[in-house]
Amino acid sequence: MTAQLIDGLALSRLWRTRLTERVAALRARGVQPGLAVILVGDDPASQVYVRNKVKACHEVGIHSVLETHPADLSEDALLARVRALNTDPAIHGILVQLPLPRHLDAHRVIETIAPEKDVDGFHVANAGALMVGQPGFWPCTPHGCMKMLEHIGVDLRGKHAVVIGRSNIVGKPMALMLLQANATVTICHSATADLAHHTRQADVIVAAVGRPRMLTADMVKPGAIVIDVGINRDANGKLCGDVDFDAVREVAGWITPVPGGVGPMTITMLLANTVDAAERATA
Ligand code: NDP
Repeated sequence: MTAQLIDGLALSRLWRTRLTERVAALRARGVQPGLAVILVGDDPASQVYVRNKVKACHEVGIHSVLETHPADLSEDALLARVRALNTDPAIHGILVQLPLPRHLDAHRVIETIAPEKDVDGFHVANAGALMVGQPGFWPCTPHGCMKMLEHIGVDLRGKHAVVIGRSNIVGKPMALMLLQANATVTICHSATADLAHHTRQADVIVAAVGRPRMLTADMVKPGAIVIDVGINRDANGKLCGDVDFDAVREVAGWITPVPGGVGPMTITMLLANTVDAAERATA
């Protein structure tokens, strides 16, 4: 059996069409949704990510402001910029691209963003809201994964979901979202003994590790749904996920490709959060 593809690009296009309509409705009542993106330093990967985010904003009609700062920007100066954006009525969402240069305390910076403008969903107020099942902004990558699962029509109630990775931006919020959808959730990490023992029992596997093709076909139950969050370069410099795609697709029921899977949905959920923020701020 060859797995069916979950096409993140196609699903993103659908979502972005709907978001364009919501932006038009906001504009019709005089509201222009605005996202501020702050980039500190010249990390090449971060430069690509912020460019893609700004481009996507443009596509759906969100006004975006890209602020680039030199790597030696002081923490006080950065916090002052965030505070200014917090009170800027033209800005509904604020995103500080991570990682930050070492001398800057990412936690302090994120905590300075007003929670109602924290469209990345990293502020403890939003993380806490997810934890207790209250409304708030959900982190974009796991949110995008949930939308992909919804799209294929899987009922997660009673399913066993195994999340590999426990970072604050992907693994942990992913596990909480799956739990909220009534899955039985196992979280694996670098200290997990016998990872394959867990993944082989999974109806749904979300791999968010950052190790090229680490999830191999023998670790997957036939028919399982496999969501690949990883973005890696293999030894030959080729872009790949955490899943050994060619082999796993012969075993799984559904699988996301890399590229063209979770990546585009992550940016789409950022756009959705920004439109939500503008709607909430002006309701
Ligand atoms: P982190 O490095 O923060 O977390 C990786 C997690 O994987 C950790 O919890 C770590 O465990 C766990 N891990 C490491 N090695 C193993 C192992 N051998 N077995 C089991 N678990 C292991 O990464 P992120 O969560 O930020 O990102 C994960 C991947 O997703 C990366 O490839 C990243 O590039 C990609 N990514 C993709 C996005 C997208 O839009 N598609 C967005 C964000 C990230 P421990 O906690 O014990 O160290």
